[in-house]
Amino acid sequence: MKIAVLGGGLTGIALANTLTLRGHDVTVLEKEANTGGLCRSETKDGFTFDIGGSHIIFSRDKEVNDFLCDVLTENKDKRKRNTKIFFKGAHVKYPFENGLHDLPPEDRFFCINEFVKNLIALEKGELKKPENFREWIYYTFGRGIAESYMVPYNEKIWNYKTEDMSLHWVDGRIPRPPVEDIIKSAIGIETEGYTHQSVFTYPIHGGIEAMVNALKEPVKDKIITDCEVTGVVRNGNQGGGKVSNGGNAGFVVKTSKGDFTADKVISTLPPTVLLSCLKNAGANVPKDAASACENLRYNSIACIGIGVKGGVGDISWMYIPQTDIGAFNRISFPSNFSTAVAPKGCSSVLAEITYNDGDKISKMRDEELVDEVVRGLIKMNVVKSRDDVVFTSVHRYEYAYVVYDLEYLKNVKIMREYFESQGIDLVGRFSEFEYLNMDGCIRHVLDYAANIGNAKK
Ligand SMILES: Cc1cc2nc3c(=O)[nH]c(=O)nc-3n(C[C@H](O)[C@H](O)[C@H](O)COP(=O)(O)OP(=O)(O)OC[C@H]3O[C@@H](n4cnc5c(N)ncnc54)[C@H](O)[C@@H]3O)c2cc1C
Repeated sequence: MKIAVLGGGLTGIALANTLTLRGHDVTVLEKEANTGGLCRSETKDGFTFDIGGSHIIFSRDKEVNDFLCDVLTENKDKRKRNTKIFFKGAHVKYPFENGLHDLPPEDRFFCINEFVKNLIALEKGELKKPENFREWIYYTFGRGIAESYMVPYNEKIWNYKTEDMSLHWVDGRIPRPPVEDIIKSAIGIETEGYTHQSVFTYPIHGGIEAMVNALKEPVKDKIITDCEVTGVVRNGNQGGGKVSNGGNAGFVVKTSKGDFTADKVISTLPPTVLLSCLKNAGANVPKDAASACENLRYNSIACIGIGVKGGVGDISWMYIPQTDIGAFNRISFPSNFSTAVAPKGCSSVLAEITYNDGDKISKMRDEELVDEVVRGLIKMNVVKSRDDVVFTSVHRYEYAYVVYDLEYLKNVKIMREYFESQGIDLVGRFSEFEYLNMDGCIRHVLDYAANIGNAKK
């Protein structure tokens, strides 16, 4: 079958790889000069940074984890996670509830006392079932952990009020603490949370993009870059009507490099982008589908790479719930993932700031973002002085995080049904509009490919 894959991020490249192996004739159409999407990395002046935010390879799904690791062959290293939360100057072990002993005594008491009070209320049936993310946090962790970490951190990363967020996604994503772990953690007995991520894999050379490049290698002649998709037309049908049973509708994909025909179109593009492609091609989009796509909420990200002289300690990455330290919600230390990503005698820090169009961060110039981060790093004692900063870079991605607001489930259903009715398949983080990490994207790719099956000889 002749298949057009719209977008050449990890999902698009993995689709090309797996569907080609099954004998299909795949073409990937990517608007940027480089493939990789959020999984791109850049090397300059000896520093390699993941420019779409810090990425590590981990998964509960063994088949997927093996898929992501095996493609790297020798170019990979395994590291033990050493992750912290920056709290009033202390480095608290991650997840927070496993690091209570690291808190100042007053805060430790607040967290454990409120956790116990909450547990008693829960046992007595006095707690109302949570209806939003904020209520779920209080219900699960009690007021102490909620107000010290969970609420401020989540409101910083999501750039959204936790009471306006849905809770359908938290199970499996946010670890629920066993009582014994909380008690052990408060008195200083080591416990581990979120264990499937406690050891992670990272490429030695080339940052996370090395993994996408390795997947791309066998199919690189099937990828067209600098090729923005601007329209999708079904042959003999300029709009409405349902494609029967996902059959071969026959499509023309319009791009900045001309038209491509395909039996099947798989989109990895955000819904609003795909919607404009249909509209540009004359589709008569129903009002509810258009407004569902437009109302799906997402965040953008600015990733600020900082190269420094000397060391930065042995932490893998650190969460920063406090707003007075800086706008960044997380810093990671790529030079602790691989020694090959910073010049000898230097280290690296990558700061992530989420923002939305029109807010204060979106209006800041690159120099101002660097300044914001360096000031914060000095306050945190990660960097001693400005003179130690030898390299800086700033990259922004419009589509970084899917935000699960209270209308999400309704809107996402309408959006998916609409594109399905147009015979277009959706695979990937923004296309499906789901909080998929790389492993989730690969799982969906593998399932999709298995479902399509091999090409007919
Ligand atoms: C800050 C951050 C940290 C993360 N860390 C991790 C991690 O540690 N581990 C992990 O497993 N996952 C992590 N992820 C998730 C991971 O980045 C995603 O799951 C994955 O990259 C999604 O890939 P994708 O191909 O579906 O989407 P994308 O990467 O968004 O790719 C979409 C592609 O479509 C292209 N495109 C858009 N419009 C058009 C158009 N009109 N025509 C043609 N092409 C177009 C884009 O240029 C892009 O290349 C992280 C994400 C973020 C934001």
